Amino acid sequence: MKRKILVATTNPGKAAELQEMLDLDVNWLSLADFPDIPEVKEDGTTFIENARKKAIGYASTTGLWTIADDSGLVIDALDGAPGIESARFSGEKSPDRTLIDHKNIAKVLKLLKGVPTEKRTARFVCSLCLVSSVEILMEKQGTLEGLITEEEIGENGFGYDPIFFVPKLKKTVAQLTREEKNAISHRGNAIRKLKPLLADLLTNSEVECDKTSEN
Ligand code: IMP
Repeated sequence: MKRKILVATTNPGKAAELQEMLDLDVNWLSLADFPDIPEVKEDGTTFIENARKKAIGYASTTGLWTIADDSGLVIDALDGAPGIESARFSGEKSPDRTLIDHKNIAKVLKLLKGVPTEKRTARFVCSLCLVSSVEILMEKQGTLEGLITEEEIGENGFGYDPIFFVPKLKKTVAQLTREEKNAISHRGNAIRKLKPLLADLLTNSEVECDKTSEN
């Protein structure tokens, strides 16, 4: 019997990306499978705190092993902003994700106006937390270093991808294919750290898994 693991997101793209990259023999579930589940507030002060809160919150409600992530953009010249506020940096509230992304980018570019290239250093950060229903099993963090451009370049991806320039590829993340992005991204890096440890845990927890497989 396969172990069930909940990916604590309602975003089908994010759930699919995580499952695809982990590529393990698991019965994956997402929050879309629990329409009435109470929402866990992301009111931590760091990425890992938010990932931990979500993982613990949803694992304790469902009784399932749960993976949660929190990610965002950290800009040195803005003292780490937008950071954990990345999704809502401009304050724009709209069901239109593209509009929100556009407003967030506009705010970053405005704040960085006149800042020279060498001071436009930034990184994407992704924290992942895996918990069983009783304990934190592992926490991993991945990053991607880059520079903030002066204008949007490229059409792919989402969020701040069009203004995040990766020096070693001489492209913004929005100029990369999905595969190219996964190979270097903060989320990809965090997932690659988690994968071998999760694979080991799954192998070593078969007995317990059989007992709880009907959860
Ligand atoms: P969350 O992890 O879905 O809460 O992501 C928070 C926000 O960080 C997103 O809404 C984006 O604005 C930004 N972000 C996270 N990862 C990426 C990425 O890979 N590219 C661009 N923006 C990202």
